[in-house]
Amino acid sequence: MAKWVYTFGDGTAEGGAGDRSLLGGKGANLAEMCNLGLPVPPGFTITTEACNWYYANGQTFPDSFEADVTAALDHIAALTGRRFGDPEKLLLVSVRSGARASMPGMMDTVLNLGLNDATVEALAADSGDARFAYDSYRRFIQMYSNVVMDLDHEAFEEILEEEKARLGHDLDTALSAAEWQHVIGLYKAKVEEELGKPFPQDPHDQLWGAIGAVFSSWMNPRAITYRRLHNIPASWGTAVNVQAMVFGNMGETSATGVAFTRNPSTGEKVLYGEFLVNAQGEDVVAGIRTPQNITEQARIAAGSDKPSLQKLMPDAFASFMAISERLENHYRDMQDLEFTIERGKLWMLQTRSGKRTAKAALKIAVDMAAEGLISKEEAVARIDPASLDQLLHPTIDPKAERNVISVGLPASPGAATGEIVFSSDEAEEMRAIGKKVILVRVETSPEDIHGMHAAEGILTARGGMTSHAAVVARGMGKPCVSGAGSLRIDYKAGTMSALGTTFRKGDIVTIDGSTGQVLKGSVAMLQPELSGDFASIMEWADAIRRMTVRTNAETPADARMARSFGAEGIGLCRTEHMFFEGERVVAMREMILSDTEKERRAALDLLLPMQRSDFLELFEIMAGLPVTIRLLDPPLHEFLPKTEEEIEEVATAMDVSVDRLRQRTETLHEFNPMLGHRGCRLAVTYPEIAEMQARAIFEAAVEAGKRTGSPVVPEIMVPLVGLKEEFDFVKARIDAVARNVMDETGVEVEYLTGTMIELPRAALRADVIAESAEFFSFGTNDLTQTTFGISRDDAASFLEVYRQKGVMEQDPFVSIDVEGVGELVRIGAEKGRGARAGIKLGICGEHGGDPASIHFCEEVGLDYISCSPFRVPIARLAAAQAAVKSARKSS
Ligand code: ADP
Ligand code: MG
Ligand code: MG
Repeated sequence: MAKWVYTFGDGTAEGGAGDRSLLGGKGANLAEMCNLGLPVPPGFTITTEACNWYYANGQTFPDSFEADVTAALDHIAALTGRRFGDPEKLLLVSVRSGARASMPGMMDTVLNLGLNDATVEALAADSGDARFAYDSYRRFIQMYSNVVMDLDHEAFEEILEEEKARLGHDLDTALSAAEWQHVIGLYKAKVEEELGKPFPQDPHDQLWGAIGAVFSSWMNPRAITYRRLHNIPASWGTAVNVQAMVFGNMGETSATGVAFTRNPSTGEKVLYGEFLVNAQGEDVVAGIRTPQNITEQARIAAGSDKPSLQKLMPDAFASFMAISERLENHYRDMQDLEFTIERGKLWMLQTRSGKRTAKAALKIAVDMAAEGLISKEEAVARIDPASLDQLLHPTIDPKAERNVISVGLPASPGAATGEIVFSSDEAEEMRAIGKKVILVRVETSPEDIHGMHAAEGILTARGGMTSHAAVVARGMGKPCVSGAGSLRIDYKAGTMSALGTTFRKGDIVTIDGSTGQVLKGSVAMLQPELSGDFASIMEWADAIRRMTVRTNAETPADARMARSFGAEGIGLCRTEHMFFEGERVVAMREMILSDTEKERRAALDLLLPMQRSDFLELFEIMAGLPVTIRLLDPPLHEFLPKTEEEIEEVATAMDVSVDRLRQRTETLHEFNPMLGHRGCRLAVTYPEIAEMQARAIFEAAVEAGKRTGSPVVPEIMVPLVGLKEEFDFVKARIDAVARNVMDETGVEVEYLTGTMIELPRAALRADVIAESAEFFSFGTNDLTQTTFGISRDDAASFLEVYRQKGVMEQDPFVSIDVEGVGELVRIGAEKGRGARAGIKLGICGEHGGDPASIHFCEEVGLDYISCSPFRVPIARLAAAQAAVKSARKSS
């Protein structure tokens, strides 16, 4: 028979850290903390299997379940001397959800469960503190009504606000026992008015209601959205933790808090946390009262005049510091901790690996490796490659003038500029039409996740460093300024004002998540740099990875940036991009619109020196490294003159009539240019184009070799090959030009001629093509288009619908479609190697910068990956992780 319930408490537990999938993250770690002998209020965890059973059986509970829960309550009773529902020896519990992956804020916890009109009196008598008892009861009514009975939270907030105003109190803590009692009366009346029945008084009804609510919440829209965004399967289910209450709201010697064992923003090895005296549960993160610092050091650094925990409760503080160090060493990772102090006694309520910024992740990994806590390989494995994106994004130029409107907390680093919007729906709408927005909210809640995704950055008027906005933004890698208290936000009017200036929806602001500043307008930004911990991790990654990392670049600026990010050559230089600028496009148009080979050659003669000087510059930057140059690829129509002015300009240059030119333009029209006269088809029809490009390449290689002393190895790549004959035709021209240039200059140039594999036919005939081709580069953008028969430029509208309807989970243009496109890559690689041992294999589609696709490239044994300059560090790290993973698999 299945075991549905696992108990924990008093130094032992039936589960442990290894039982995450069964007990959820929270439950497994509560058990583990008990096993470590830490002070954890006793309780029990209902397994995720029970949740799955519940859904598989029409939302009912298994037979033996009620008896199991009763037995587990008895277990708590035995440990605490208190019994659930017994006013003589009152036991109250919390009911907490906890899935395998942490889903912050997704499912709500109910505290103080077991209180009713009778037991609240017992609590008052037992604790000797009536104010505390009524405060707990009103919290319970409010939470239970909201979480379990689905009543609007605001309704209760309003009642409380009105009472506070009427009584002249600013803070909740100022209400007396009698005043809370009155509020409770109003709350209960509200429940009855809304639901037509009284607030449930039977503790067992309350408990079963709460357990059912946690299970049901697994399928609420918020949770479903979160799972979709984070690829969490619904089949995991959630666990439920039922735990004896401890009280942080039992007066001035009680408190509740949250902490990170290291700074989650910078990674610095100092405990970082906040707490509130006489408070409970989420008070600290709710932004209602301003929390206090835990350590003296942090208090001084923050310039706060409110005493630290260290000062206020030195004993509890000392135990907490010892425990946090112990937990960090035990889990060998930075921990995010939740605790409560009841009348001076510390209780641990949660530990988990803490979310952190990319910067902090790097520092923590490097520091922990230096401390000997983890190996370098583990340090490399711990960094999420995608998160590096945050560090590869601009920051505000320190020299730029800053027009500061407001200052909040530096909640998530990086700078962002955009038009302000005041709702998440607006953020999403604006994003859809290509606008960059800053989402401005008083505070955010889980309902804002989609808006936070759509925004460049997030700005809130309320909330601390551990507020919802701050935690979620750091997880997403978005700049965030939280708690900018001087901002007045008016949702109705759609305005935000500070320092007497009012900003409307659509006005531009910049936020600096590293300083907390909010700036007017857009501000000059600085490009990022790789140094310090980033450089260390990269160095370690480089020592581990097998594949080399190149970049896709054609401009000197991109090539230089890529080299500074560690690119080991160019994997794709798109020559057509070199022809769009100024004068060149006119010569290019002349070439395309020529009627005869002679005219075409004349135009190509104009292009040759420009092309040669481009290559020369690239080859100097990439001295000693391989550079793959793709011959002209795009549909010619992309270069055709469109406006009257452009047509006249070209007509004059060619000395032909405008009418004649227009006619010629029309004959070049294609119905489906993507599948038209492009790629090697251009070189077959007009070999002189390929010849000019080859000459420019070889002449530049000779010259660059002379200048730098370490010549590049040009790899000339023929695009869109489907037939070996196409490739052979073009290769013969390239080889002839190479011979000529070498004879003319007397310099031998080492070079390779290869092809892109971007048509299914090329993959299927790779063995034959490899008889001539010396390398393959998988052009997975076009290969995805031609495999699916989907045009990438037209895909957005229906792929989104596919995703929503669950027809296709992932955009195949972002992450490689392993089963289809990947299969063709695999076939191409195997056949290529079969025909030519040691054939060089690489990838140059956008997938070369996508970590999941990089794992696939490692699996099929590619030699290199090539990606855009900004993604080079991501690719270096992902390649190292892929190498570790595949080494593990094969051993
Ligand atoms: P979340 O998953 O949103 O963090 P938790 O289940 O951790 O929710 O509960 C939120 C907070 O409620 C905890 O941080 C703690 O302050 C409080 N809490 C939960 N259980 C107890 C308990 N048994 N006694 C006292 N406080 C509790
Ligand atoms: Mg928690
Ligand atoms: Mg292509």
